[in-house]
Amino acid sequence: MRLDKFLSHTGFGSRKEVRLLLKQKKIFVNEKVQTKGDLKIDVNKDQVSMDGEKIHYQKFHYLMLHKPSGVLSATEDVKQKTVIDLLSDDYQHLDLFPVGRLDKDTEGLLLLTNDGELAHFLLSPKKEVKKVYFARVEGIMDDDDRVAFQNSILLEDGYKCLPGQLEIKKTDSEQNQSEVLITIQEGKFHQVKRMVKARGKEVNYLKRLSMGTLKLDPSLKRGEYRYLTDEELQSLK
Ligand code: URA
Repeated sequence: MRLDKFLSHTGFGSRKEVRLLLKQKKIFVNEKVQTKGDLKIDVNKDQVSMDGEKIHYQKFHYLMLHKPSGVLSATEDVKQKTVIDLLSDDYQHLDLFPVGRLDKDTEGLLLLTNDGELAHFLLSPKKEVKKVYFARVEGIMDDDDRVAFQNSILLEDGYKCLPGQLEIKKTDSEQNQSEVLITIQEGKFHQVKRMVKARGKEVNYLKRLSMGTLKLDPSLKRGEYRYLTDEELQSLK
């Protein structure tokens, strides 16, 4: 692998930024200063270091984002802000993409990665990865709704959902509102909203709390993100 690609993958910036580091004679390969980005290195054998610190090769990156409302779950859009636009310049060259989609007005947990294999695994319907959502609903959700979710809901387009789970956390008959937790194992377009609609009610706030073993870090504010810990990553795989 080229030295500049190695550095760029490992989080040392764009090709341009990496070129500058090389020019400044900050990068050493096997304790010898190197200034050429096209130098071929063996990631398993050669020791790359900067300021005396060994650099470990990292091909894949995994970020947990607390997606705010108002941004698209996409990598680019000519008009609208995307989740990738929320990331600082340090992450822009890593080819990250969101694993699945949350609606523009949905908040909460979104995994960003450049690991296509893991994304495919997590999104595969066969894997039945459970997603948990908190929803504020206009209308009172009751035990009939809970049973309907368990037995699988028929959407208006005739699609029969896999069994889900509805947990009623709060109902307020004066405000005609309910707060619920909904667990589903699919990811059809607007699925939670359409399941609630099939029961004659409407979601007016939606937030994803978890995806499989991965839970939204409560310390992340809307728009904030961080790397997954090793434990989080291992338990996802
Ligand atoms: N279900 C929805 O309706 N919207 C989302 O963003 C995610 C799940």
